[in-house]
Amino acid sequence: MHNTVLTMKQCCSPLAGAGAVNNEKETSSAYRGNVRGMKLHNNSAHIATFQEMNLPDALLTALEKMNIQKPTPVQSQAIPASLDSSDVIAIAQTGSGKTLAFALSLLTTLQNKPKARALVLVPSREMAQQIYKVFLELCAEMPVSVCLAIGGTTGSKQANQLKKNPRLIIATPGRMNDHLLTNKLLLQNVEVVVLDEADRMLDMGFAPQLRAIQDTMRGQRQTMMFAASFAENVKEIAKIFMKPDVTLVRTDKAEAPVGTLEQKVIFIDRSLKNDRLLDELNATKGGVIVFTGNQESCEFIGRYLKEYGFKTDLIHGALSQGHRNRVIREFREEKIRIVVATDLLARGLDVPHVDHVINFDLPFQSEDFLHRIGRTARAGRDGQAITFITPSDFRMYRRIKSYLEGAQEIKINPNFAFIDRSKNGDHAKSTFSSKRSPDKSKRSPDFKKTSAPKKYSDSGKVGKKATEFDKPAKSYVKSAKSAKKINPLAGKSYASKKGGLSKKR
Ligand code: AMP
Repeated sequence: MHNTVLTMKQCCSPLAGAGAVNNEKETSSAYRGNVRGMKLHNNSAHIATFQEMNLPDALLTALEKMNIQKPTPVQSQAIPASLDSSDVIAIAQTGSGKTLAFALSLLTTLQNKPKARALVLVPSREMAQQIYKVFLELCAEMPVSVCLAIGGTTGSKQANQLKKNPRLIIATPGRMNDHLLTNKLLLQNVEVVVLDEADRMLDMGFAPQLRAIQDTMRGQRQTMMFAASFAENVKEIAKIFMKPDVTLVRTDKAEAPVGTLEQKVIFIDRSLKNDRLLDELNATKGGVIVFTGNQESCEFIGRYLKEYGFKTDLIHGALSQGHRNRVIREFREEKIRIVVATDLLARGLDVPHVDHVINFDLPFQSEDFLHRIGRTARAGRDGQAITFITPSDFRMYRRIKSYLEGAQEIKINPNFAFIDRSKNGDHAKSTFSSKRSPDKSKRSPDFKKTSAPKKYSDSGKVGKKATEFDKPAKSYVKSAKSAKKINPLAGKSYASKKGGLSKKR
């Protein structure tokens, strides 16, 4: 294995990776000034088959049953790099097979060390549930007990399971930390920690919980960190959890959309977006995720599409876990064709039949854009992403432009121009306010008289801030009435609200 020392700075460059590490002299000198106590070793070695990786037979059998034949690039690099207990940071494209990369390595370690235990931390409950299912499939022939510790479900049942020292815990940081507050010994003998979507966990304000979790662990440990982008905050989390020597795995074209994704950018006035959404949806066939900018927009668009007879439902962090689980289940089972979501669904969701992603509103962070479009065109399949850009989106458009390379560009109004906020401010009207009578010609072919929008019992449950992913919804929004107490904007437009929810989501 050929390892080259990289500086943090160089690793953060989009050029870093196999081709960017050849100048050893330059990297070494830059390294001295930059790294603040961490060495990153670039891993260029890869193994082309699962059979050559020394994985236990039980895992090879499980892979066969799952019809997984050949490792993806991140798997062929990250699995060998982590099997010798090295700390590993893997930056790979979303949908590139990251889950199996850490799962196969981690389960091999558990097989080889009968007393060892492992912890997988992920930012959202939905991701945790998805990863849990993958582990159950892989562990079918292995005596590995697995516990899922996430918010939105009964804590006492989980606490009982955790007391029995399961070999593997899959958790969200908030709930794991809650359990540790009452029992600091729950993570005894944890020898492998996986941090999936590490940057996201920090974005969501989980640093204190992650620190607290790390503080309770004793002894030697291996940490594997997986992220689709190598942002500044990934370094922060690396410093909390990792040894000074870290192997960095970067597959070609990490931090870029996959080649099988076709993109379309529509430059459009805000007031025309709703109508255009109907046209775009009527032209699609398979599963679609429509990403909105906040919970209110999500509620509005969800109801709007129902009015037009689309088989749709919506998901955001202020809805109950039961609702969230049902929507994802029905989407997987293709009972729902279109899910309207906030960035709650931007990361990790793996539903193969998502053929289209529509960015109705832009995200607040450019990395989320990459994650959103990574919900389609997964594992070699084709997919399409459609992005609406309005005159007031200039700043974010500039930041996501590199992800839109090669996209088809459509200007609805040939005189489309961005608003320069620095000169005159942005007083664009909210999309939500335009109440017009429905244009029947735009209805979904599935429209039935009965498909009038049901009243969402959750509407008005527009929650408070940042933690929409990992808090039991009922703990912060009990009813529409109390929601209004918590947030005076509940039921009104969030679009103009700075900070709080719209800032962090
Ligand atoms: P992930 O990036 O872990 O969310 O995985 C994305 C999708 O790729 C999932 O549906 C996996 O089942 C699938 N996948 C992962 N590894 C492989 C592989 N080696 N060959 C084919 N499909 C894979």
